Amino acid sequence: MTSPTPVARKVSIVIPVYNEEGNLPRLLPRLVPVLEGLGRPWEVVFVDDGSRDRSLALLKEAARSHPGRVKAVELLRNAGQHMAIMAAFGETDGEYVITLDADLQNPPEEIPKLVAKMDEGHDVVGTVRANRKDTFFRKAASRLVNRTTALLTGMRLGDYGCMLRGYHRDVVDVMTASDEVTTFIPALAQLYARHPVEIEVAHEERAEGESKYSVLRLVRLNFDLMTGFSVVPLQLFGLLGFLTALFGFGFGVFLLVRRLVVGAEVEGVFTLFALAFLVMGVIMAGVGMVGEYVGRIYQQVRGRPRFLVRRVHEGKEEP
Ligand code: UDP
Ligand code: MG
Repeated sequence: MTSPTPVARKVSIVIPVYNEEGNLPRLLPRLVPVLEGLGRPWEVVFVDDGSRDRSLALLKEAARSHPGRVKAVELLRNAGQHMAIMAAFGETDGEYVITLDADLQNPPEEIPKLVAKMDEGHDVVGTVRANRKDTFFRKAASRLVNRTTALLTGMRLGDYGCMLRGYHRDVVDVMTASDEVTTFIPALAQLYARHPVEIEVAHEERAEGESKYSVLRLVRLNFDLMTGFSVVPLQLFGLLGFLTALFGFGFGVFLLVRRLVVGAEVEGVFTLFALAFLVMGVIMAGVGMVGEYVGRIYQQVRGRPRFLVRRVHEGKEEP
């Protein structure tokens, strides 16, 4: 996919929206003054990720009342936050592209900080949520994910989950050209960044509604991150299997010697069960892990479109 000719120093804001009717009315009134204050061209590209509430109607309305400034990309069905952002990337033409959540957890007032960093020549501006306002469970889970991902991928990102981030056009273009069916945008950008930087940004509580991520969706998203950027999980099972086999062999030798010295042993049947279950569990987890990769490979080879854009609303046309 090729994006339109980039406009120098223009700032494009990309906002994925999934059932956010409660937040949308407050978003633009906070965002527009900040963008006006930048003193350079700007645009906001919303993407409606198959919302079932009034979000799309509100976005169309916003596009109508800000012609040439606000666009709404309408997806045919829910494609997930990261794919929705990908779809919107293709509709931006700013030299700087900044992503933001629609629920006001990322204060729009932080945007100038990101723009300043990009003016200094950083092509990816990552962010870390200072004082994160999420549930204890989410924060603990994120800490675990941040650590393990850093370990597995060798990428050092302070906070994978904060989506208030800035990307230079060049990085956006390679990201949209990377035809992956599942992806994780902050990690993908890090892969292509030449001169990344990480800053702290404020974080607020979700203004209205609830998080769109159930535990299951979160787990899937994190598998996307892990499998998309590392094969270490697969290799770990190889290593684990090797070690188990080695242990099994050693144990066999020990039993043989014991049999010759002390005689046959019959006790400890249940210990054997426990060990067998442990090993079976590990095997099943390993097969499952392989499945995670294979499933993604399958999705990729089928080559279905990653997202379907029904229409781009730009305010001028349509009733
Ligand atoms: N979102 C989306 N598609 C989805 C899930 C979420 O476009 O399938 C959007 C959502 O509307 C919000 C952003 O992605 O603007 C972040 O979602 P959410 O606030 O639910 O995530 P959390 O802050 O709990 O991580
Ligand atoms: Mg949120």
